Amino acid sequence: MSKQTTVLKSPPVEAPKSLEQLSESEIERKAVIGRVTTHTLKYLTSKFVDRGFQWLLPVALSQCTDPLWPDPGASIEKRIEVDIYGKTVRTTASMIIHKLIASSTAYPKLFILSPNIRIEKAERAHTGKHVYEFTQLDFEAREATSKDIMNLVEDLLCGLVASVKRDLKDELIHLSRYDTLKVPKAPFKTYDKQELEAEYGADWETSVVMENGAPVWVTNIPREFYDFEDFKTGKWDNYDLFLPQYGEVMSGAKREWEYEKILAKIERDKINKDNYSLVLKLAEQGKLKPCAGAGIGMERIVGWLTGVKHIAETQPFPRIPGIVHEL
Ligand code: ATP
Ligand code: ASP
Ligand code: MG
Repeated sequence: MSKQTTVLKSPPVEAPKSLEQLSESEIERKAVIGRVTTHTLKYLTSKFVDRGFQWLLPVALSQCTDPLWPDPGASIEKRIEVDIYGKTVRTTASMIIHKLIASSTAYPKLFILSPNIRIEKAERAHTGKHVYEFTQLDFEAREATSKDIMNLVEDLLCGLVASVKRDLKDELIHLSRYDTLKVPKAPFKTYDKQELEAEYGADWETSVVMENGAPVWVTNIPREFYDFEDFKTGKWDNYDLFLPQYGEVMSGAKREWEYEKILAKIERDKINKDNYSLVLKLAEQGKLKPCAGAGIGMERIVGWLTGVKHIAETQPFPRIPGIVHEL
């Protein structure tokens, strides 16, 4: 979760229609986008499996989920909590804490197609980048460094775009995206968020995204306690990936694993310690291992590949903030 938001200074995007409201040509377009989604899922999951990552199934209800805090750009209207068997559980905002514990124990390298529920404020209906239910391809690797993860993601993204252009040429032409979608070249440029803020002010995201014709990394982003912060330098060892003319598609980090630091950060952030008692306990027992990972927003990456105006167009059943359909 980043401190900045992806609400770019662009005109409001119209909310897409639901499945049963589509005309025949719109249904054909929906099917074409579906083929790009299928290709993307197949490509990315097979690459993770090939590289020795285990594919875990997601969870929907837990006592502990991503605090999504601190985040001045946060736009969560409501958090869903429900009592089951005498305990309060929350719908998954992200599986970050599950990943840290899974990677430290039985699954050193793992990934999950994880449904995330974030009841974004209704005004986000028109950013074109927010839905209230989405899927992250969330992955984590024990002992990995930020550089390892950034290299892996660069390989995946370059390979994915090349394969979509090769295998789904007709689909991209149908979507008028074949000529504008360029295969990126690694390594991508890396920017430091503090330096960007010094140069461009609070609006750095628009500047970086609009000025670069290629994907870029932004590092050193102060945010949730689980991302690694060097207490001596104040620098954060984390990274967001921004796609050209588009915006953020992935957030990740090297993680904290030491008890004292995690505790100090949870207290500093004034979040409820009781919700993170297991991760604190494991850290205190030395059972939390250093790891690094990230989460790729599937609707956003498919939205970028297909060039749709609103990422809800990539969803069979759109989850547009403020709009609740029967399906
Ligand atoms: P933003 O600042 O764009 O609202 P975020 O930084 O709060 O997003 P993260 O917590 O970093 O989001 O989530 C990891 C990834 O999940 C993001 O990089 C993005 O691809 C995706 N994502 C986050 N929120 C949404 C949303 N509401 N709709 C669709 N995808 C999302
Ligand atoms: N998936 C993100 C990560 O791995 C966390 C998040 O969704 O906020 O850092
Ligand atoms: Mg983010």
